[in-house]
Amino acid sequence: MAVTSKGFPLLLTFDLDFETMWTARDPAYAQRPILMSQGAYGWKVGMPRILRLLEKYEVCCTFFVPGLVAEQHPELMREIVDRGHEVAHHSYSHKWIVNLSPEEEREEMEKGLEALTRTTGYRPRGWRSPAAEFSAITLDLLQEYGFDYSSNFFDDDSPYLLNIRGKQTNIVELPFRWVLDDAPFFQYSIVLPGRTMQAPSALLEAWTSEFDTLYEEQRMMMVGMHPQIIGQPSRLKVLENLLIYAREHDNVWIGRCDEITDDMRLILKAQTDAAA
Ligand SMILES: [Zn+2]
Repeated sequence: MAVTSKGFPLLLTFDLDFETMWTARDPAYAQRPILMSQGAYGWKVGMPRILRLLEKYEVCCTFFVPGLVAEQHPELMREIVDRGHEVAHHSYSHKWIVNLSPEEEREEMEKGLEALTRTTGYRPRGWRSPAAEFSAITLDLLQEYGFDYSSNFFDDDSPYLLNIRGKQTNIVELPFRWVLDDAPFFQYSIVLPGRTMQAPSALLEAWTSEFDTLYEEQRMMMVGMHPQIIGQPSRLKVLENLLIYAREHDNVWIGRCDEITDDMRLILKAQTDAAA
Protein backbone atom coordinates (compact mmCIF):
# COMPACT_ATOMS: atom_id res chain seq x y z
CA MET A 1 0.00 0.00 0.00
CA ALA A 2 1.69 3.19 -1.15
CA VAL A 3 1.61 6.33 0.94
CA THR A 4 0.37 8.40 -2.03
CA SER A 5 -1.58 7.38 -5.12
CA LYS A 6 1.66 7.57 -7.14
CA GLY A 7 4.00 5.77 -4.79
CA PHE A 8 6.59 6.63 -2.16
CA PRO A 9 7.10 10.42 -2.11
CA LEU A 10 10.64 11.80 -2.25
CA LEU A 11 10.56 15.58 -1.95
CA LEU A 12 13.69 17.51 -2.90
CA THR A 13 13.26 21.04 -1.58
CA PHE A 14 15.60 24.02 -1.74
CA ASP A 15 15.55 27.05 0.57
CA LEU A 16 16.88 30.01 -1.42
CA ASP A 17 18.25 31.95 1.55
CA PHE A 18 21.37 33.22 -0.24
CA GLU A 19 22.67 36.36 1.54
CA THR A 20 19.64 36.49 3.87
CA MET A 21 21.08 33.46 5.65
CA TRP A 22 23.56 35.97 7.11
CA THR A 23 21.71 39.30 7.12
CA ALA A 24 18.83 37.71 9.05
CA ARG A 25 21.27 36.86 11.86
CA ASP A 26 22.68 40.39 11.91
CA PRO A 27 21.94 43.19 9.39
CA ALA A 28 25.51 44.46 9.94
CA TYR A 29 26.76 41.38 8.08
CA ALA A 30 25.67 43.16 4.88
CA GLN A 31 28.90 45.18 5.28
CA ARG A 32 31.07 42.04 5.18
CA PRO A 33 31.55 41.26 1.49
CA ILE A 34 33.33 37.93 1.92
CA LEU A 35 30.55 36.64 4.15
CA MET A 36 27.94 37.88 1.68
CA SER A 37 29.78 36.15 -1.15
CA GLN A 38 29.14 32.80 0.55
CA GLY A 39 25.42 33.46 0.03
CA ALA A 40 25.95 34.78 -3.49
CA TYR A 41 27.49 31.45 -4.50
CA GLY A 42 23.95 30.09 -4.27
CA TRP A 43 22.49 32.23 -7.04
CA LYS A 44 25.64 32.61 -9.12
CA VAL A 45 26.83 29.01 -9.28
CA GLY A 46 24.68 26.72 -7.14
CA MET A 47 21.32 27.37 -8.79
CA PRO A 48 22.38 26.88 -12.44
CA ARG A 49 24.10 23.66 -11.43
CA ILE A 50 21.05 22.42 -9.49
CA LEU A 51 18.64 23.30 -12.29
CA ARG A 52 20.78 21.38 -14.79
CA LEU A 53 20.83 18.33 -12.51
CA LEU A 54 17.04 18.39 -12.07
CA GLU A 55 16.62 18.69 -15.83
CA LYS A 56 18.98 15.77 -16.43
CA TYR A 57 16.83 13.52 -14.23
CA GLU A 58 13.55 15.13 -15.36
CA VAL A 59 12.30 15.90 -11.88
CA CYS A 60 10.36 18.91 -10.61
CA CYS A 61 10.83 20.27 -7.11
CA THR A 62 9.80 23.00 -4.70
CA PHE A 63 11.88 26.08 -3.96
CA PHE A 64 11.14 27.99 -0.74
CA VAL A 65 12.05 31.60 -1.40
CA PRO A 66 12.20 34.72 0.81
CA GLY A 67 10.28 37.56 -0.91
CA LEU A 68 13.35 39.78 -0.78
CA VAL A 69 15.37 37.18 -2.72
CA ALA A 70 12.57 36.95 -5.31
CA GLU A 71 12.72 40.73 -5.76
CA GLN A 72 16.50 40.64 -6.15
CA HIS A 73 16.36 37.79 -8.72
CA PRO A 74 13.14 38.07 -10.75
CA GLU A 75 14.75 36.36 -13.75
CA LEU A 76 15.66 33.37 -11.59
CA MET A 77 12.06 33.15 -10.35
CA ARG A 78 10.82 33.08 -13.96
CA GLU A 79 13.32 30.40 -14.85
CA ILE A 80 12.27 28.21 -11.91
CA VAL A 81 8.60 28.53 -12.86
CA ASP A 82 9.26 28.03 -16.60
CA ARG A 83 11.09 24.80 -15.85
CA GLY A 84 8.03 23.42 -14.07
CA HIS A 85 9.17 23.81 -10.47
CA GLU A 86 7.13 25.26 -7.63
CA VAL A 87 7.94 28.42 -5.65
CA ALA A 88 6.72 28.55 -2.05
CA HIS A 89 6.85 31.11 0.77
CA HIS A 90 9.94 31.38 3.01
CA SER A 91 9.22 34.76 4.73
CA TYR A 92 10.23 38.12 3.29
CA SER A 93 13.68 38.87 4.69
CA HIS A 94 14.36 35.54 6.49
CA LYS A 95 14.18 37.33 9.88
CA TRP A 96 13.93 34.78 12.65
CA ILE A 97 10.33 34.36 13.76
CA VAL A 98 11.09 34.13 17.48
CA ASN A 99 12.59 37.64 17.47
CA LEU A 100 9.58 39.30 15.80
CA SER A 101 6.54 41.08 17.26
CA PRO A 102 3.16 39.84 15.96
CA GLU A 103 2.96 42.94 13.77
CA GLU A 104 6.41 42.31 12.30
CA GLU A 105 5.60 38.66 11.65
CA ARG A 106 2.44 39.65 9.79
CA GLU A 107 4.42 42.16 7.75
CA GLU A 108 6.96 39.47 6.80
CA MET A 109 4.05 37.27 5.72
CA GLU A 110 2.32 39.93 3.62
CA LYS A 111 5.43 41.39 1.99
CA GLY A 112 6.60 37.88 1.13
CA LEU A 113 3.23 36.97 -0.39
CA GLU A 114 3.20 40.14 -2.45
CA ALA A 115 6.77 39.75 -3.74
CA LEU A 116 6.39 36.06 -4.61
CA THR A 117 3.03 36.54 -6.32
CA ARG A 118 4.44 39.42 -8.35
CA THR A 119 7.61 37.63 -9.46
CA THR A 120 6.13 34.17 -10.16
CA GLY A 121 2.63 35.07 -11.35
CA TYR A 122 0.86 32.96 -8.73
CA ARG A 123 0.18 32.93 -5.02
CA PRO A 124 2.41 30.52 -3.10
CA ARG A 125 0.57 27.55 -1.60
CA GLY A 126 3.13 26.42 0.96
CA TRP A 127 5.12 28.00 3.76
CA ARG A 128 8.36 27.10 5.48
CA SER A 129 9.64 29.06 8.45
CA PRO A 130 13.02 30.78 8.32
CA ALA A 131 15.38 29.20 10.85
CA ALA A 132 12.89 26.45 11.72
CA GLU A 133 10.74 28.02 14.41
CA PHE A 134 7.15 29.17 14.97
CA SER A 135 5.76 31.92 17.20
CA ALA A 136 2.46 31.73 19.10
CA ILE A 137 0.59 33.15 16.09
CA THR A 138 2.30 31.41 13.14
CA LEU A 139 -0.24 28.59 12.82
CA ASP A 140 -3.10 31.11 12.88
CA LEU A 141 -1.39 33.11 10.13
CA LEU A 142 -1.02 30.00 7.95
CA GLN A 143 -4.75 29.45 8.21
CA GLU A 144 -5.69 33.10 7.80
CA TYR A 145 -3.59 33.49 4.64
CA GLY A 146 -5.01 30.31 3.16
CA PHE A 147 -1.94 28.11 2.84
CA ASP A 148 -2.50 24.56 1.62
CA TYR A 149 0.59 23.07 3.20
CA SER A 150 3.34 23.67 5.73
CA SER A 151 6.75 22.02 5.81
CA ASN A 152 8.06 22.73 9.26
CA PHE A 153 7.49 20.21 12.02
CA PHE A 154 9.90 17.49 13.11
CA ASP A 155 7.38 15.14 14.74
CA ASP A 156 6.64 12.60 12.03
CA ASP A 157 7.95 10.84 8.92
CA SER A 158 4.57 10.91 7.19
CA PRO A 159 2.37 13.78 6.01
CA TYR A 160 -0.57 14.68 8.24
CA LEU A 161 -3.26 17.34 8.61
CA LEU A 162 -2.37 20.18 10.98
CA ASN A 163 -4.36 20.75 14.15
CA ILE A 164 -4.85 24.38 15.10
CA ARG A 165 -6.30 25.16 18.53
CA GLY A 166 -7.76 21.68 18.80
CA LYS A 167 -9.37 21.69 15.37
CA GLN A 168 -8.17 19.62 12.45
CA THR A 169 -7.56 21.79 9.42
CA ASN A 170 -7.16 21.04 5.73
CA ILE A 171 -3.52 22.19 5.83
CA VAL A 172 -1.14 19.33 5.04
CA GLU A 173 2.03 19.18 7.11
CA LEU A 174 5.05 17.78 5.24
CA PRO A 175 7.48 17.26 8.12
CA PHE A 176 11.25 16.98 7.93
CA ARG A 177 14.22 16.56 10.28
CA TRP A 178 17.73 18.01 10.61
CA VAL A 179 19.38 14.84 9.30
CA LEU A 180 17.56 15.48 6.02
CA ASP A 181 19.04 19.01 5.77
CA ASP A 182 22.40 19.85 4.20
CA ALA A 183 23.23 22.73 6.58
CA PRO A 184 24.01 20.67 9.72
CA PHE A 185 26.56 18.71 7.70
CA PHE A 186 28.25 21.53 5.82
CA GLN A 187 27.36 25.00 7.12
CA TYR A 188 30.76 26.45 7.88
CA SER A 189 31.83 30.03 8.49
CA ILE A 190 34.16 32.04 10.68
CA VAL A 191 31.10 33.73 12.24
CA LEU A 192 29.78 30.34 13.40
CA PRO A 193 32.66 29.08 15.55
CA GLY A 194 32.84 25.44 16.51
CA ARG A 195 31.40 24.05 13.31
CA THR A 196 33.29 21.63 11.12
CA MET A 197 32.49 20.28 7.69
CA GLN A 198 31.73 16.64 7.14
CA ALA A 199 32.72 14.48 4.22
CA PRO A 200 30.17 14.28 1.40
CA SER A 201 30.16 10.51 1.90
CA ALA A 202 28.74 11.04 5.42
CA LEU A 203 25.75 12.83 3.89
CA LEU A 204 25.23 10.16 1.25
CA GLU A 205 25.35 7.46 3.91
CA ALA A 206 22.84 9.33 6.08
CA TRP A 207 20.42 10.03 3.24
CA THR A 208 20.47 6.59 1.63
CA SER A 209 20.05 5.00 5.04
CA GLU A 210 17.11 7.31 5.78
CA PHE A 211 15.69 6.40 2.38
CA ASP A 212 15.90 2.66 3.09
CA THR A 213 13.82 2.80 6.26
CA LEU A 214 11.35 5.42 5.06
CA TYR A 215 10.81 3.48 1.82
CA GLU A 216 10.44 0.19 3.66
CA GLU A 217 7.86 1.74 5.98
CA GLN A 218 6.23 3.57 3.03
CA ARG A 219 6.33 6.98 4.68
CA MET A 220 7.85 10.04 3.00
CA MET A 221 11.31 11.53 2.51
CA MET A 222 11.54 15.31 2.74
CA VAL A 223 15.00 16.65 1.95
CA GLY A 224 15.80 20.32 2.66
CA MET A 225 18.78 21.94 0.96
CA HIS A 226 20.40 25.32 0.29
CA PRO A 227 21.90 26.12 -3.15
CA GLN A 228 24.98 27.78 -1.61
CA ILE A 229 25.68 24.55 0.28
CA ILE A 230 24.44 21.58 -1.80
CA GLY A 231 25.32 23.41 -5.04
CA GLN A 232 29.05 22.96 -4.40
CA PRO A 233 30.60 20.23 -6.59
CA SER A 234 31.34 17.51 -4.04
CA ARG A 235 27.91 17.93 -2.43
CA LEU A 236 25.85 18.04 -5.59
CA LYS A 237 27.26 14.62 -6.37
CA VAL A 238 25.58 13.42 -3.17
CA LEU A 239 22.25 14.71 -4.40
CA GLU A 240 22.81 13.09 -7.79
CA ASN A 241 23.71 9.80 -6.15
CA LEU A 242 20.59 9.99 -3.97
CA LEU A 243 18.50 10.54 -7.12
CA ILE A 244 20.12 7.56 -8.83
CA TYR A 245 19.64 5.42 -5.71
CA ALA A 246 15.98 6.38 -5.32
CA ARG A 247 15.23 5.69 -8.97
CA GLU A 248 16.56 2.15 -8.63
CA HIS A 249 13.49 1.47 -6.43
CA ASP A 250 9.98 0.80 -7.71
CA ASN A 251 7.17 3.30 -7.28
CA VAL A 252 9.15 6.30 -6.08
CA TRP A 253 7.40 9.61 -6.75
CA ILE A 254 9.80 12.55 -6.90
CA GLY A 255 7.59 15.61 -7.07
CA ARG A 256 6.62 19.08 -5.93
CA CYS A 257 5.17 19.76 -2.51
CA ASP A 258 1.94 21.14 -3.98
CA GLU A 259 1.33 17.97 -6.04
CA ILE A 260 1.91 15.74 -3.06
CA THR A 261 -0.28 18.00 -0.91
CA ASP A 262 -3.21 17.63 -3.31
CA ASP A 263 -2.76 13.88 -3.38
CA MET A 264 -2.38 13.55 0.40
CA ARG A 265 -5.41 15.71 1.08
CA LEU A 266 -7.68 13.24 -0.68
CA ILE A 267 -6.11 10.27 1.10
CA LEU A 268 -6.02 11.88 4.56
CA LYS A 269 -9.57 13.17 4.20
CA ALA A 270 -10.80 9.67 3.27
CA GLN A 271 -8.97 8.21 6.30
CA THR A 272 -10.49 10.85 8.61
CA ASP A 273 -13.97 10.30 7.22
CA ALA A 274 -13.60 6.54 7.61
CA ALA A 275 -12.53 6.96 11.24
CA ALA A 276 -15.40 9.35 12.07
ZN1 LIG B 1 15.93 29.49 5.14
